[in-house]
Amino acid sequence: MASEDPIPDSGSDPYQTPTLAFKQTLCFSCWDISSNLSRCIACKRVSYCSKKCQKQDWNRNHKKICKKLIALNKRKEYVSPFGRHWGDYYEEQALLLHCTHVKEIIKLILAVSYEPYCYHCYRRESQLEDGARLNVCQYCLLTLFCPSCQQTHPSAECATLQNIATDDKIMVDLRRRTGKSSTISFTKFPRKQHVPLSSATDWYDYYTRLSDMGGFRSKMNRDLKYQANDPKEREFVEYIRYGTNTTTIQLTLIAALEATIPDISTRGSINLHIIGAAGAEFSSVPAFEELLHLLPSLTALQISFVGLDVSEDLKDDTETQKSHTLQCCTTCTKMGRSISITTWRGPYHAYVDTKFYKTPDLAAAFHSGFSVEQQAEWGPTIKYLALAPHPTLFTAARYFEIQGEMGVWKNLGAEFVKNAEVNKWKGMSPSLSVCGDKPNEVTYPNYWWYIVKQR
Ligand SMILES: [Zn+2]
Ligand SMILES: [Zn+2]
Ligand SMILES: [Zn+2]
Ligand SMILES: [Zn+2]
Ligand SMILES: [Zn+2]
Repeated sequence: MASEDPIPDSGSDPYQTPTLAFKQTLCFSCWDISSNLSRCIACKRVSYCSKKCQKQDWNRNHKKICKKLIALNKRKEYVSPFGRHWGDYYEEQALLLHCTHVKEIIKLILAVSYEPYCYHCYRRESQLEDGARLNVCQYCLLTLFCPSCQQTHPSAECATLQNIATDDKIMVDLRRRTGKSSTISFTKFPRKQHVPLSSATDWYDYYTRLSDMGGFRSKMNRDLKYQANDPKEREFVEYIRYGTNTTTIQLTLIAALEATIPDISTRGSINLHIIGAAGAEFSSVPAFEELLHLLPSLTALQISFVGLDVSEDLKDDTETQKSHTLQCCTTCTKMGRSISITTWRGPYHAYVDTKFYKTPDLAAAFHSGFSVEQQAEWGPTIKYLALAPHPTLFTAARYFEIQGEMGVWKNLGAEFVKNAEVNKWKGMSPSLSVCGDKPNEVTYPNYWWYIVKQR
């Protein structure tokens, strides 16, 4: 493949490493597909296409985790050739990660969590008899089978996983060409008349009727799968589907604004607070222009990103707040429309007491996960939001998070503008669950949503 292209630095963001690389069907360093990948002989948990790639990854990342992976391998339990239950496999995984106190090394956690194992008997390769190897499903490249088990898995599941393989290729291609892992596509020209997003039934309807991809109406299906044979058009549609994982943020916000502001179609200005903003929100910033493009009366959009993950270079105390104006398209600029962005590093309940705080029209916390992690940090903010003077949108990828969150809100006496339900504007690119309830479980960004009512 394209060996002349610069090798992406997979060390900078572990979450942006292709899943296929963890499954050892891509070179862990340059992310090329190769039929003769060779493994790190010490840990056997990463594969490379060449000595050069191996050396590069060793210096960049692998030397930090190889020894730890070897230690994990030594902890393997005996498993009967008849296999075991998913729960037993999962427990062993959790134990491995817990025992080694490696919680801080995300890449290591992912290498273990996404490790290849037999789909039917849940044995990893080191647990097979006589050095037997796992075979990979030739369609999805993500499911593996030991030689003693059936060599198939359900076709619907395989089809879903094939999207991950497609998306991995898109991501690698993007990183090579642009240095970024995400692609952003939104409505090219601002709409002249307001058409409520709530009138669209799904992403397909949004793209072909509200946005400007009407020309693709007959060329893709409702799942945004391309239906014809032109390779350039196919690639474009695949990028569009992949891009929904970024613009899910903006469309979900527009849907929430429509649900909470009765006169949204005539509003000239909107003030948004994004709580707990992190990587996903920041990389989607250019797509905030979609709010201007779908809401024609809007001329001034003010967005404040507040949270502990607001990056160090944006760090501020209560004395100052960083602010900048987002460059809009020429049409919007000519019309005098603007998007102003401010950032403040710290917990939201503390931001409320600063001189910068202005009651927003809507606050939003995407994938806060407040019921399962960082409870100490989120606790006071959630308590505040239960009785805040504005509505707050929440999203989560998995149902058990929603269940946990509902329990918390109930105790705080919160009420809802919108009860928890599946979000029409969830991202359409699946990712393999790191700790699923069953093998090959996938999640979608912003799958669930609800809106807490203002007081
Ligand atoms: Zn390579
Ligand atoms: Zn190694
Ligand atoms: Zn098996
Ligand atoms: Zn498959
Ligand atoms: Zn514009």
